[in-house]
Amino acid sequence: MARGIDTKCLHLEEEEGLNTHYGAISYPIYQTATYAHPGVGQSTGYDYSRLQNPTREHLEKVVASLENGIDALAFSSGMAAITLLMELFAPGDHLIVDTDLYGGSIRLFSHVSEKNGIIFFHVECHRENVENYINEHTKAIYIETPTNPMMNVTDIAALAQIAKKHGLLLIVDNTFLSPYFQNPLDLGADIVVHSGTKFLGGHNDTLAGFLITNREDISERFRFLIKTTGAGLAPFDSWLILRGIKTLGIRMERAQKNAIAIAKWLQCQEAVTGVIYPGLPEHPGYEIMKKQARGFGAMITFHLKSKEFALAILEKVRMIKFAESLGGVETLITYPATQTHADVPKEIREKNGITEATLRLSVGIEDVEDLLAELEAVFSAASEMA
Ligand SMILES: *Cc1c(COP(=O)(O)O)cnc(C)c1O
Repeated sequence: MARGIDTKCLHLEEEEGLNTHYGAISYPIYQTATYAHPGVGQSTGYDYSRLQNPTREHLEKVVASLENGIDALAFSSGMAAITLLMELFAPGDHLIVDTDLYGGSIRLFSHVSEKNGIIFFHVECHRENVENYINEHTKAIYIETPTNPMMNVTDIAALAQIAKKHGLLLIVDNTFLSPYFQNPLDLGADIVVHSGTKFLGGHNDTLAGFLITNREDISERFRFLIKTTGAGLAPFDSWLILRGIKTLGIRMERAQKNAIAIAKWLQCQEAVTGVIYPGLPEHPGYEIMKKQARGFGAMITFHLKSKEFALAILEKVRMIKFAESLGGVETLITYPATQTHADVPKEIREKNGITEATLRLSVGIEDVEDLLAELEAVFSAASEMA
């Protein structure tokens, strides 16, 4: 019987019973750059830490098991992972990418990958017919679901069918839900991307990124590329992410519970003109979420009645921190227009629905009463200011 995900966060089945590392319960940090060879033409299996490191390898196996992949690679950040991913493509290749994505991904595509000859078509994958954009040069479809920050939900299995029919790779950035709530490979995706900085690490203290696949050929290519380009995650950071993953399940459950309460509270505020949370039945992606995910996550985007009100909230928060990033135990609030999505051209940002009165909350695991009390105080102070 396949093990449950909470168990998989703690135990790597394949290494059980091996009696290695003196029985250490916490996986050791192999802080070494290189490895001695037993003899000429012999290797312990480890030659140099750019290629492989036991601590990083252990983390990679855990993440592969969480996403039901055959291989996972750990990188120094989410962007390092996506940058390496782009090396799968050659000048003249076309990629269909969602219009609403993490701002850094859009910056990479338009300011780095495009210069290398890759051509991007920005498509609203949750509602447009993606097939209309496919031609003989198209190589892949790249999405997030739910998207950052507009929470658009795309049917992964339906898109996977289109990708298979046309021989394209389907790549899904699964950062927002984490493997605890969603497994795109099981739904037909070929590659999963994670910013491990977010829910996987979970403590707002370490940067990391992952690529996971269930295809031998892609895994082989990724292994060649990581050893060649060198953005693998450091041993200590690998250990921190391993430690974070141990509590992934209870963190996700608690953060989601808090998020549902906060989304409902926000809906009752006169100053709030819209709450976008895929766990609300009125969210257009609610039914698809119920079909393809095991939960709705802890990210909420909401619109205020004015830019002034949004800015006043950012001025007044105290326990909730005004900071970029997401997915950690501490609740953070962000201003997408000037922070995470500042490099997305204004007209695209506005077309996607991100205005200067839009805020994004990454709900943490504090006591929900304290979060609601903070929000009450912040909203009443903001109404006096704005
Ligand atoms: C943060 C983020 C990234 C980039 O990851 P880093 O670890 O910050 O480099 C990519 N995709 C999504 C959805 C993100 O939230």
